[in-house]
Amino acid sequence: MELDRACQRKGVNAMAIENKNRTAEEDASINVAEESRETTWKSKSYMGSIFVGDFDIDIPHRRGCGFPEQDPADKATGDSILANIKKWADEYLDGEQIDRDESIPGHVWAGLKDLNLFAIKIPKQYGGLGMSQTNYMRILSLISRYCGSVAATLSAHQSIGVPQPIKLAGTQAQKDKWLPKFAEGWISAFALTEPNVGSDPANMATEAYLDGDEWVINGEKLWCTNGVVADVIVVMAKSGTRVTSSGKEINEISAFIVETDTPGVEIIHRCKFMGIRAVENGLLRFTNCRVPAENLIGGQGNGLKLALSTLNDGRLSIPAIAADNIQYVSEFSARWGKTREQWGRNIGAHEPGSEKIAQIQSAGYAMAAFSDYCAYLSDEGKQDMRMEAAAAKMFNTELLWDTMDTALQLRGGRGYETSESLRARGEFDIPIERMLRDSRINRIVEGTTDIMHLFLAREALDWHLSNAGALFGRASAWTKIKTVAKCAWIYSGWIPKLLVPSIFRRFRSFHSTLRPYLRSLDSRSRKLARTLFTQMILQGPKLEMKQLTLARLVDVGTEIAVCGLVLSRVDTEIKAGSYDNLLTARYWAKTRLAHIDQLFRAVWRNNDADAKILAAEQMLRAEHLPKVDTSHLKMIETDVGRDITNGKKRKGVS
Ligand SMILES: Cc1cc2nc3c(=O)[nH]c(=O)nc-3n(C[C@H](O)[C@H](O)[C@H](O)COP(=O)(O)OP(=O)(O)OC[C@H]3O[C@@H](n4cnc5c(N)ncnc54)[C@H](O)[C@@H]3O)c2cc1C
Repeated sequence: MELDRACQRKGVNAMAIENKNRTAEEDASINVAEESRETTWKSKSYMGSIFVGDFDIDIPHRRGCGFPEQDPADKATGDSILANIKKWADEYLDGEQIDRDESIPGHVWAGLKDLNLFAIKIPKQYGGLGMSQTNYMRILSLISRYCGSVAATLSAHQSIGVPQPIKLAGTQAQKDKWLPKFAEGWISAFALTEPNVGSDPANMATEAYLDGDEWVINGEKLWCTNGVVADVIVVMAKSGTRVTSSGKEINEISAFIVETDTPGVEIIHRCKFMGIRAVENGLLRFTNCRVPAENLIGGQGNGLKLALSTLNDGRLSIPAIAADNIQYVSEFSARWGKTREQWGRNIGAHEPGSEKIAQIQSAGYAMAAFSDYCAYLSDEGKQDMRMEAAAAKMFNTELLWDTMDTALQLRGGRGYETSESLRARGEFDIPIERMLRDSRINRIVEGTTDIMHLFLAREALDWHLSNAGALFGRASAWTKIKTVAKCAWIYSGWIPKLLVPSIFRRFRSFHSTLRPYLRSLDSRSRKLARTLFTQMILQGPKLEMKQLTLARLVDVGTEIAVCGLVLSRVDTEIKAGSYDNLLTARYWAKTRLAHIDQLFRAVWRNNDADAKILAAEQMLRAEHLPKVDTSHLKMIETDVGRDITNGKKRKGVS
């Protein structure tokens, strides 16, 4: 089938589509993003297929074998370490105190090291625990129930910090040198963001140049989680320029391993936040900082590409924590709904309370299905998961915030009161107030929701761009004629398939009660493909600027994917004899199908144009904020990782 081939294709070149609506800066940013994208697809993508009208539930449902649950042997390994961690955390991990003190105490650092939690995914041959991605996510989820700051610390170190890129793209010498250090308690960090560079790394100011056999790094890095205490950091820096396949000159970004005791590395500010208050997050300065040439990871100019592929797995800890936190809150919300009585009924029996409990329960189930499926993809390693990973991060973090807020509302005033205060006056509690604050950051880090929308929209359109992209570029007339002929051939086979009614799909391997929902998802997937295609025809290259339209369509595709996973998992449970979650799954499917229809309506009926005009008018009246000035900041006193995990030693103040 043409679509299957399309979704499994390999070697499609990165294509910087020409668009005269862009500014020069936008063009540069998009070219850097295009150059850093993975261009080949390992396998047919479950999510990617949904956008071209092919709802292939057989991919996650494994051709009738059911939703992929964790391998029993791997689960047993995880259960045993989780039991040890729980025992330790019950005794030593006081999230309230850590939040109040805005600091992780020495005994917690030491405990994390003793449990080898700085080396969870590092292979045993290098002294690590050698855990699977699934167990890694389970461990971080458990820790997050106690303390969001400690979970964020471990995640920044292992999801994006030094271990993961070295595991993925390091040389054998780099693996031998660095990986054992994390089992000794070394802490790492990842430094991409700068005061003037957030979502858009194309304009990175930090520079690195080769001087003999050393790289010399100059620049500043902002919001580097663990940066204040890290022993070693992956630093992203501009290492020159290069000309892309489409003839554009772009900044080349490379990744360097930098030890924090290298002369020229300064921690000049510790940043404080609304939530995850104890994270050791800092503003770092690099002044003529020299690192050996062998500290370059993944080759010159491949830094951003490496960061993006690291994030495929790296991003997964966030949706896992999100799912787990909501499941935790869900159990509690049901107890509270049953216990608290007002106006002669328990609050869970008043309709708004019932709705909240149902929303929290079904959200937890759906988020777990998405996160567990991604964990499976990561451990299995055979299927392409870039879209699933990005969508899980986006979807679970958005739903986490909404659902945590719902749980807080269900609690009334107690939701707003701190856990410590509640306990002090004798009430049993879980810290919803702190969990809400801690959860907020997840919509921002590792790619904001807007950036995830852009990333997913680009991947969703990849099939169309690889078919028709040449029509928008500076290709020769002959190439354009050939492209038109190719498109006529491909689309004349594709479009009729989008018109086939979903009633003809039987979904025989599923329980009968679930089949109508699957048919509805199938028909929404075809409608999504038709809508996307129509928008492409109507808008042409301008579609790239219609970010809200694209975001709605990306959300539709994500909702279809998640709903499919929920139905796949519940079907598998039913076949194993458990009907416990059938109602949850049905509630989810009904409410989200209605939400999908709202999103479709908003593609055609919205207020986007007015928003643009109003914002432009407001910005015309506004003045620019003052420029960032960090020149007055000097090195601060700080403890350093390998010392705080073993004992105490201070890094000098310059
Ligand atoms: C607690 C915390 C921990 C962090 N940890 C790290 C870390 O360890 N390492 C690291 O390198 N960075 C880290 N960051 C930085 C984080 O990754 C960035 O905050 C994030 O990438 C967004 O960048 P920004 O804040 O500069 O927002 P901006 O890029 O300035 O964006 C502001 C807003 O504009 C939107 N926006 C931006 N570009 C577009 C676009 N093209 N289209 C539509 N909307 C757009 C964004 O979605 C956002 O809503 C951390 C930040 C925080 C707060």
